[in-house]
Amino acid sequence: MRYFALFGNPVSHSISPRLHNSALQGLGQSGIYGRVLLEQGSDIIAKFRKYNLSGANITIPFKESALTLCDELDKIAADIGSINTLVNKNGKIKGYNTDAPGFMMAILEFGKIDKALILGAGGTAKALAYILSINGMDVEILNRSDKKSQFVNYKFHTHSSFTPSGYDLVVNTTSAGLCKNELPCDEAILKDILSRSKFAFDVIYNRPTPFLNLAKDMGLKFKNGKDMLLYQAVLAFNLFYNNKFDELKITELMSKAFEL
Ligand code: NDP
Repeated sequence: MRYFALFGNPVSHSISPRLHNSALQGLGQSGIYGRVLLEQGSDIIAKFRKYNLSGANITIPFKESALTLCDELDKIAADIGSINTLVNKNGKIKGYNTDAPGFMMAILEFGKIDKALILGAGGTAKALAYILSINGMDVEILNRSDKKSQFVNYKFHTHSSFTPSGYDLVVNTTSAGLCKNELPCDEAILKDILSRSKFAFDVIYNRPTPFLNLAKDMGLKFKNGKDMLLYQAVLAFNLFYNNKFDELKITELMSKAFEL
């Protein structure tokens, strides 16, 4: 029997156990994926070892702090500065980031993108800016405050310093819309941006957000974060098993679990 878990705070809302357990069962693996509510990020590795885990995922708010505790890091994770996946490699714990490649898989259907605007400047924005940029896209960041300093490699705007312009892709990575009916920035500015842009993506997946509703009303092609969640889980699952399974098969099994 192999054991896997999701670490975070909160974790009770997450459907990751459902996705991974569906893949484990469908692929005939003897394993179980649970969830661990953590009070302190510094406990992650001790708990990982205590529960004898083969692999784990990490969600808010520990993605950045967990990175510093790994024995080894995948290059993409090290470059981004945050991890969402841990794998036990013969006793050594290696950290990966599958949010970034999972996002790239989710936006494939949009087609060619040259210029992207990311709303928000947190951990998710950092991962998406990195992966868009290494895929040759011109990336700009728009955040409500200027307190984030990690975006030195990108054109960084605050709401007050921004002059609206057009983009192929506009991505909401803020938590605006997650629980309340809020837009990620002033409605007039957002309308101005969206009226000159082609595609809208929101990393939030649990409800239709005001941001995506506006994009839809304005005729943009749009997507929520469900496929990003799905693909980051597919990639993480395959890392747990040293990439021995067919990605399409894992995707099919996890997709079914979304409908439960
Ligand atoms: P962080 O807390 O690191 O960053 C949040 C960002 O949002 C900050 O830049 C913050 O601005 C901004 N923000 C928060 N509230 C508002 C608001 N009301 N209006 C405008 N800006 C706001 O969060 P993460 O980057 O870790 O996560 C962001 C979202 O992404 C979460 O909803 C999470 O669930 C989702 N997510 C989805 C995934 C998926 O697979 N679909 C994967 C990973 C994350 P400031 O700097 O001024 O505080």
